Amino acid sequence: MKAVSIIVPCYNEEAVLKLFFEETQKVLNTISGYSFHFIFVDDGSSDRTLLILKELSNTHMHVDFLSFSRNFGKEAGMYAGLTYADGDYVIIMDADLQHPPALIPDMLKGIEAGHDCCAAMRTSRTGESKLRSAFSRCFYRVSNRLTDVNLVQGAVDYRIMSRQMVDAVLALSEVQRFSKGIFSWVGFDTKWLPYENVERTLGKTKWSFWGLFKYAIDGITAFSVAPLRMVSALGFVISSFAFLYIIITLIQTLAFGIDVPGYVTTLCAVLFLGGIIELSVGILGEYIGHIYMETKDRPIYILKASSIKDRKQEKSANGNSSS
Ligand code: UDP
Ligand code: MG
Repeated sequence: MKAVSIIVPCYNEEAVLKLFFEETQKVLNTISGYSFHFIFVDDGSSDRTLLILKELSNTHMHVDFLSFSRNFGKEAGMYAGLTYADGDYVIIMDADLQHPPALIPDMLKGIEAGHDCCAAMRTSRTGESKLRSAFSRCFYRVSNRLTDVNLVQGAVDYRIMSRQMVDAVLALSEVQRFSKGIFSWVGFDTKWLPYENVERTLGKTKWSFWGLFKYAIDGITAFSVAPLRMVSALGFVISSFAFLYIIITLIQTLAFGIDVPGYVTTLCAVLFLGGIIELSVGILGEYIGHIYMETKDRPIYILKASSIKDRKQEKSANGNSSS
């Protein structure tokens, strides 16, 4: 019997958690030949999420939870889940039922057919604001052009991975994680499962527009130095124009004498170059910021409580008392 770990990052999901567990369990009950192990990751929730998880883990042997000391973000939640998952296959899915549990049998079929990964892909974006959809499409286009990882439009974090692929993902231990890029960067063969977008009915999204924008910038800078090269290229183009302008002005001065200088040209040039310099420093700053955060080598998450550790301690305590 193959073991499948299911990782579920949760942040303030008290409204939907129980329903999520029931709905997913219903689907799992129809699948034979596998043992399932849930690892819920409470990402520093301030609502009753942890209480619900404790209850679920106390009443079900195949449910465990990890709980962070504060909110570290979904990326950290997924990473923590992956480090604790010991199944032959590992599934990652959201707690809000936007990732339909009904896809799990198809995912298992895909991975049994020899794929290393089987991932869900949204074919529609119903319920999402036009601005967010447009921004997202634009991000994919820019990112695929600038980086050497290929991000698939509509790809979500809902996927099943083989042990080999999970180990590869864990080998990338960067603190500032961009999993969509990491999943693509590690390679392996991915089968895509299209599905209709499901709107969130309970709880609410944790993403603000600004949060998504920062995430997009991080995604590009994490996988490409193309923006740095673009800055160099821009500098080269502007210098070439400036050089040409100097020669033209020199010839004009020698041929026709000194003209009354226009301050508008000077002002435009100063403002334009000022803008370009600010932009370049900003881009450099993004990379330096990333280097700074990575060199600190801080842990990706800090655990406050965990049923897995508790169970291990209980087991070793029982083992010691019996010996
Ligand atoms: N999540 C998390 N930590 C966070 C934000 C979100 O663990 O800081 C979890 C959240 O509980 C959910 C999943 O990540 O299970 C996706 O979050 P959300 O539904 O807010 O994102 P969206 O579906 O809008 O992209
Ligand atoms: Mg969601």
